[in-house]
Amino acid sequence: MRIIIVGAGLSGLMAAQSCVQAGHDVIVFDKGRSVGGRLATRRVGSAVLDHGAQFFTVRDAVFQSHVDAWISAGVVGSSNYFGTSSSIYKTDIKPYQACAVDLINTVDIVEYELENPMYNHVKLGFIADDTAEEFAGPNHDRMDITNSIGVALKALQELNKKIDNL
Ligand SMILES: Cc1cc2nc3c(=O)[nH]c(=O)nc-3n(C[C@H](O)[C@H](O)[C@H](O)COP(=O)(O)OP(=O)(O)OC[C@H]3O[C@@H](n4cnc5c(N)ncnc54)[C@H](O)[C@@H]3O)c2cc1C
Repeated sequence: MRIIIVGAGLSGLMAAQSCVQAGHDVIVFDKGRSVGGRLATRRVGSAVLDHGAQFFTVRDAVFQSHVDAWISAGVVGSSNYFGTSSSIYKTDIKPYQACAVDLINTVDIVEYELENPMYNHVKLGFIADDTAEEFAGPNHDRMDITNSIGVALKALQELNKKIDNL
């Protein structure tokens, strides 16, 4: 079938790709100077800058399969916690053996206020300087959120197992 798609933004291009993969003959029209729509590269004098979508969220398996292909092609990447949850960014994956409940018990939870007056309400947490590397990272200068969530989840699993065995 011959299909005409108006608009070469993300939606039009995805539709065109799906139609081509399904064996259709596709023409895409766009009123702009280049493809991409709101994602496109803009030109200001001699300068060029990429306009949209600093980040996006993957909510279903079909979109995930497209994103995996973009990652493999090197056209998108991620350095954030959620993006790097994928195994393709990780090596040396193995079960964490230490007792997470014991590790959590080494942490002093304190309340404090930040010096920055914009955030001057009371916060709860720990002081990274005095906390195990698993929570604070190698320089002990900030909280490692990924590790902290991982240890908290494992501690819950350990406690659940203890409850089951009672
Ligand atoms: C600065 C900025 C930052 C953004 N950041 C994010 C982000 O971080 N995460 C995120 O998920 N989303 C982000 N967005 C939103 C995201 O970019 C858009 O939701 C998405 O690109 C929309 O794609 P689309 O194909 O639906 O529409 P569009 O990209 O708008 O594409 C429509 C296309 O149709 C063409 N067109 C319109 N009318 C005609 C016509 N009559 N004839 C021919 N062609 C026509 C237009 O030229 C355009 O190319 C951002 C948007 C902007 C502008």
